[in-house]
Amino acid sequence: VHQRPVSSLQHTLARPVRFSGVGLHKGAPAVMTVIPAPADSGIVFVRTDENPFAARIPAHVDLVTTTQLGTNLTNEAGVSIATVEHLMAALLALGIDNARVEIDGPEVPILDGSSDVFVQEFLSAGSVSQGAPRRVIEVLETVEVTDGSKTVRLEPAAAFEVDVTIAFDSAAIGTQRVVLAPTAAVFADEMGAARTFGFLHQVEAMHAAGLALGGSMDNAIVVDGDTVLNADGLRFADEFARHKALDAVGDLALAGAAIRGRYVGVQGGHAMNVALVKALFARPQAWRWSLEHAPQQLLAAAGI
Ligand SMILES: [Zn+2]
Repeated sequence: VHQRPVSSLQHTLARPVRFSGVGLHKGAPAVMTVIPAPADSGIVFVRTDENPFAARIPAHVDLVTTTQLGTNLTNEAGVSIATVEHLMAALLALGIDNARVEIDGPEVPILDGSSDVFVQEFLSAGSVSQGAPRRVIEVLETVEVTDGSKTVRLEPAAAFEVDVTIAFDSAAIGTQRVVLAPTAAVFADEMGAARTFGFLHQVEAMHAAGLALGGSMDNAIVVDGDTVLNADGLRFADEFARHKALDAVGDLALAGAAIRGRYVGVQGGHAMNVALVKALFARPQAWRWSLEHAPQQLLAAAGI
């Protein structure tokens, strides 16, 4: 069931998949439909509640506007879509290259605070090959972004890997490190279900300021001091680091293609991940377009 089509060809969903739920920021309900799309179209959000001429928001790092509480995109017309990273991570890990994401509001539904619902529904729908070669971004030189003791970097590697370390002054979290290669199976079983998290005092302060109005223990792990408040506890002992790894996969997906390289993050976050992708693109010698599992005829078809 978890077998991603190990393919050098682009894929899209076999049928549309519908999700509904509240957004994290405003808590407003939205309906989102992820629809099959043509080869080479990538992932494109379409705000169906906006003027059709202004509604299209391609999922690309150049359109990232804010990264507080999640990664948000804004197009040239000023139309935004918020909290795209958990959806983007699921699409990337499951090998869905092309999709049109129609949504009738400004935020992707937060659902359970992880990618799990997206993964289950996409696996259930299945995907279809589209005949066109799938290009990947091959990292050739290490690129790094630092901010004090925080660091994120991309290194050359034979496959996509994520290596995430976090450290919090709470016994519920402490220091955690996960190293995973997010294939479809690994993502579905070991990363996609890891939920976002926050501290109770932050959640209370945000609610008082009118932020994170959709946030609750239904869609986040809430930590108070050294204690996890959720009645059902954790899904993984190191669920916090696994969620940071999930976030990194989703942010890196905004490169517009899968990355062949190792991501290393120490106390990183959305803003640094986005800066890292931009830093990679800003150094032409640090990367090149390549093909996944490329047989010769596909190399020729792609002009490589
Ligand atoms: Zn997240």
